[in-house]
Amino acid sequence: MDRILTKESIRGITPYPLGIAAEELKEKYKLSRIRSLADNENAYGCSKLVSLAMSKQPGNLSRYPDGACSALKRTLGNFLNLPSAYISIGNGSEELIRLLARAYISEGDEAIMADLTFPRYKANVVIEGGKAVEVPLKDGLHDLVEMGSRMSSRTKMIFICNPNNPTGTALCKEAIQQFIAAVPAHILIVLDEAYYEYMNHEKRTEAEKLLTFHDNVAVLRTFSKAYGLAGLRAGYGMMHPSIIAELDKVREVFNVNALSQAAAIAALEDQYFVRMSGEKNRTERERMRGRIQELGFMCYASEANFLFIQGALAEKLMESGIIVRKFTHASFQGEAVRLTIGTEEDNDAVLEAIGQAVRGRRV
Ligand SMILES: *Cc1c(COP(=O)(O)O)cnc(C)c1O
Repeated sequence: MDRILTKESIRGITPYPLGIAAEELKEKYKLSRIRSLADNENAYGCSKLVSLAMSKQPGNLSRYPDGACSALKRTLGNFLNLPSAYISIGNGSEELIRLLARAYISEGDEAIMADLTFPRYKANVVIEGGKAVEVPLKDGLHDLVEMGSRMSSRTKMIFICNPNNPTGTALCKEAIQQFIAAVPAHILIVLDEAYYEYMNHEKRTEAEKLLTFHDNVAVLRTFSKAYGLAGLRAGYGMMHPSIIAELDKVREVFNVNALSQAAAIAALEDQYFVRMSGEKNRTERERMRGRIQELGFMCYASEANFLFIQGALAEKLMESGIIVRKFTHASFQGEAVRLTIGTEEDNDAVLEAIGQAVRGRRV
């Protein structure tokens, strides 16, 4: 089928690598148990309030959901101390990335981003005919000085992923505030904080303060990670209402389904669950990082629910039934893996497999 040409902008794009399916892996290595630690999902599930709220949804599935997500915006507004007019809800925060690119990137526009970061920034910019200006990470962190120096008359957007996926590293809020203050008001800064709830408190930006001083900032967060609702698809953005008005022009009218809206409200009400997830994650993450480094692998300090480990470990972990995401990249030699922090039991299995890989290498 080569007679129907796609739009030129998407010809060079490869679909997001979805990874090996659990069933396939089970079959291949005759495994009894698979641990999926590839997508940074919450190891502890989600709040119990969520299924309760979903079961109480009116059985009225023939009705469209609230296209304005009013109740969810109200609940979020109270929680975030922000007027709900500053909040936009997406079908996952990934949708908000797409809408921002859709609304703001024209042919030839440039968007500055890190060279090793969430791949959906570049994909969505390129789809709209824009160009990704990729700035190498410095010690796993966004190099804000270099990113600032790459601004040009074509720059429309700057993406900062904090903590950065896949390295897990986080900039402090002062560095981000300073950077934002130095960017001209006609450039939109997209601050993706998908792992915000996992960060050390003193590094967390205060979105409501940023938005008081800057109309050109969009802060994105999600219910997929610390809230444990990846399967439902709900994320939110905090930004000036004038930006939201533009996103509303290009989004689907009913982009967030009724069950997701109800679930997100319930999840938000259970901050105990979020704190518990964060604390357990921190304990396990630090234990894992220490052990993995002792085993001889370089691993950045992470403020998210995953670790970025430099070493050719993906195959060995797969053989043990542990699915991780493998990376090769110009910025480091050889291979690396991004490992989601699982439960204590998951993590013990990971350490066992890495230990075996190391011993295997020595003999
Ligand atoms: C997981 C993730 C998202 C998207 O999450 P949604 O499920 O679409 O809300 C966005 N940005 C980063 C950096 C992520 O890791």
